[in-house]
Amino acid sequence: MHITILFLIGLSFGSFINVCIYRLPRHISIVAPRSFCPHCGTQLAWHELVPVFSFFFLKRRCRHCGVKIPWRYPVIEFLSALIVVNFFFLFGFTAQYIISSFFALVMLTVALIDWQHFIIPNKLLLTGIVIGAGLKFFFMRDEIIESIASAALSVFTVSLILFLGNRLFRKETMGVGDVKLSGVIGLFLGFQFFLSALWIAALGGMIYGYGRRALSRMEHPFGSDFQFAPSPDEKIPFGAFLAGASVLVLITEKPFTHLLQWSP
Ligand SMILES: [Zn+2]
Repeated sequence: MHITILFLIGLSFGSFINVCIYRLPRHISIVAPRSFCPHCGTQLAWHELVPVFSFFFLKRRCRHCGVKIPWRYPVIEFLSALIVVNFFFLFGFTAQYIISSFFALVMLTVALIDWQHFIIPNKLLLTGIVIGAGLKFFFMRDEIIESIASAALSVFTVSLILFLGNRLFRKETMGVGDVKLSGVIGLFLGFQFFLSALWIAALGGMIYGYGRRALSRMEHPFGSDFQFAPSPDEKIPFGAFLAGASVLVLITEKPFTHLLQWSP
């Protein structure tokens, strides 16, 4: 498989992810209507929708209303292409490659939506679980029972943490979306790798939370109208951390649980 073709396929996946990120949280269908400018609503022609290229060709503006196109569009397209190409180097053209790329692209979408909206759309998780189980069944039939058991065990573990956390701290640390996301990750990665992802995510979320709290207390040099970070009580998009950590575990193919065991 030629790398350029893989890169272009990756770019178009990224383009589709951009559509999902905008439409899924707003409950707009991802197939119809055709792509439009979120500001003026004009439907876009094919030459305004070429990944990355159109962004620079249009000089970062909508041709109809002149609103600026955010940088995140080409960045997400490029990131998706990187996943598709790099995973090819990592796994070769194998079943593992197809399954892992699909998983990473779904996790990228989950992370970006959760980061912005603090939700993980059910449609996205359902797509992940159905296609994931389908791919596993098709390519790795002897592992399917283990995968389903891992998914169930992951959901159970996170439900338990959620239940205990709400009881002990009387503060919402995770949501139901995170529980469902755990099932998808467990299905793809297996329970051991899921546990690694879970505690990396917890660590990342904690550092992020404390970091923001510290930043929000800091005085901004431009005066009190400015602030480094919003109020410290804001929620942490834990799903985004969990999704990111699961891709990290997948790439390194190492369970990180051993790091929890204290050794002198
Ligand atoms: Zn426009």
